Amino acid sequence: MSALLDVKGLGKVTLNKLNEMGISSIDDLLMCFPKRYKIQKIDKIHNAKINQTITIYAKVQSKPSVYFFRKNLSKLSFKAVSDNQKFRVDVFNRHFLSKVLYTHSEIIITGQFKSSFKVFTASEIALMKNYDEGIIPQYDLADIHDGRIKKIINEVLGHGHQLYEPLPKSVLNKRQMTNINQVIHDIHQPDNEVQLNRAMTRLKYQELFEFALRIELIKQIQKSKQSSKKPYQINIVKALIKQIGFELTESQKKASNEIFIDLKSKHQMNRLLQGDVGSGKTIVAILASLASVTAGYQVAVMAPTLVLSHQHYQVFKKYLEPFDIKIALLTSETHAKKKTQIMHAIHQHNLDIIIGTHALIQETIDFAKLGLAIIDEQHRFGVRQRKTLREKGYFPDILLMSATPIPRSLAISIFESSDISQITEKPLGRKPIITNIYPYSKMKSVYRRIEMELSMHHQIYVICPLIDSSESSPYFSVYETLQLMSDHFNDKQVDILHGKLTDQNKINVLKRFKQGDIQILISTTVIEVGIHIDNATTMVIMNANTFGLAQLHQLRGRIGRKDIQSYCCLVVDDGVEDLERLNILENTDDGFEISAYDLRMRGPGEVFGKNQSGIPQFNFANLIEDRELFAWAQEDARMIIDSQDIKSLTLKENIIKTLDSYHLD
Ligand code: ADP
Ligand code: MG
Repeated sequence: MSALLDVKGLGKVTLNKLNEMGISSIDDLLMCFPKRYKIQKIDKIHNAKINQTITIYAKVQSKPSVYFFRKNLSKLSFKAVSDNQKFRVDVFNRHFLSKVLYTHSEIIITGQFKSSFKVFTASEIALMKNYDEGIIPQYDLADIHDGRIKKIINEVLGHGHQLYEPLPKSVLNKRQMTNINQVIHDIHQPDNEVQLNRAMTRLKYQELFEFALRIELIKQIQKSKQSSKKPYQINIVKALIKQIGFELTESQKKASNEIFIDLKSKHQMNRLLQGDVGSGKTIVAILASLASVTAGYQVAVMAPTLVLSHQHYQVFKKYLEPFDIKIALLTSETHAKKKTQIMHAIHQHNLDIIIGTHALIQETIDFAKLGLAIIDEQHRFGVRQRKTLREKGYFPDILLMSATPIPRSLAISIFESSDISQITEKPLGRKPIITNIYPYSKMKSVYRRIEMELSMHHQIYVICPLIDSSESSPYFSVYETLQLMSDHFNDKQVDILHGKLTDQNKINVLKRFKQGDIQILISTTVIEVGIHIDNATTMVIMNANTFGLAQLHQLRGRIGRKDIQSYCCLVVDDGVEDLERLNILENTDDGFEISAYDLRMRGPGEVFGKNQSGIPQFNFANLIEDRELFAWAQEDARMIIDSQDIKSLTLKENIIKTLDSYHLD
């Protein structure tokens, strides 16, 4: 049997349907796994408890009678007996069953004894002869009935078709993993749960192993990349550290040292600086920039938004101009004439640091001596920017900064940064933000909080999921909330910020907010990254449950940036369920914990965007829950990475094909 056409009983119609689902070979068919399993087990009536679902055997003792209530509601009732215990069975909206149930019919019923053991309310009734005990695979294909697909697969399995085993024998033996053909059998026709779990473990392991190999391959490639050594002047860097005005935290010091070691070495730095919002990544970037400039190199600093590049420009200037370092801001708003001047200066090495959005490197800038590229708050596009730089013939050291804490393995796979520095503590004296959930009916308490903060001359952010109100969406919009807040606080300045404003408008609004000319700023998530305004102490998030967890944490990072107590009010509609996610925010301020929860629940594909390269698409594994299995996989990947046997080589080749082509040159 080598093609689907050869399968007995598989006709043209079904074949076409399979083809449409992308199943065109025997291998494809065998890899079409059940989506779920139903475990069917018959229990004894003695074990029944009130209000607990149970499945039992029973014998019908009376002809079923049917009652119709309203147009769409029917009840079918009959007497039954199980183990000498007599009771009535009620089932709703299954009046058609009266045609198959007779006195003495043997049946299996699933349901509950509601208030007494006299009446059993059934959710499912099956004839004993049609009931399979055991683990029932559920394929749930759109077009083909479960019974049909099972028959076809059974036919194929009966012929002993062999699949290619992608995993090396050494690994299978070491971990006592089931081979692929056994797995295929057990997945489609499991005899028991132990067998099914073993098959699942092997599938998870395989995904994790391939992911681990990917990581090892990236590490190998990164290790071989060269850059220039930068003999920086430590005394100048030290002079800046003295002038900052605050003591660096221990992990800021550690991160800076790690970066300095990289700058001095001839290997290309590919470092990811991870630190929760407000942990102080910027000053580390400034120190690295200064060091590179003292070694005679230029630095490019890229931020994801125009607003953020403005902010960086101000901060970099504040710290570095006393050292006679020339800094320019280059954005889409820079006038043509000025732009030409700046480009010329960069080319002539009359500028040391150039700051802009990510578009910066897309421009036709010709650096005289680019030594360091810093990419801020960018958890997705780092790879692409690096590629662009490389294509232009630059091999600078790279520093990526991200507030989204992710496991090391993912960081390597997504950013290709095998080196990670972490800022683990917040600057001294920060008070944890007090976060609380408010149903909308308690909005009064939120207003009171706002009032209190305003009376202390603090400022407020209010975040909404929408810009404009829409009939199709019940969520709060910026304009609607503007009305609400202006009415409530009519002696205060309330203004708005959202993505549809021009960049110049955005910058102006933020400037006025920073100067204290605006007390309440209503905004969409455009303020999500980077912005900091110390005097803003309260953030109200409307329809908080519509945002992702990591995003809420990031938003909340806009407040609590000084030693003043800050508050975050998560407002949800009354009756919104599923507040478990938001409870996490009430209970912890730790971005790592929040991110781990997010990853466990949603998986890396959802958290980081499905179509980004480097994000593993796991069908079975979960990086957080299966971390022990992943530790094995990593150990085994390290073992196999230098193996030259055909299987290992094929595996590696397949993975290399999925890496960006620029790794290959
Ligand atoms: P993020 O890591 O979110 O980018 P920033 O670099 O913007 O955070 O820093 C947040 C604020 O904390 C800034 O105002 C910065 O000046 C301040 N800051 C940074 N490091 C320290 C420190 N060690 N002690 C006190 N304040 C600090
Ligand atoms: Mg920042």
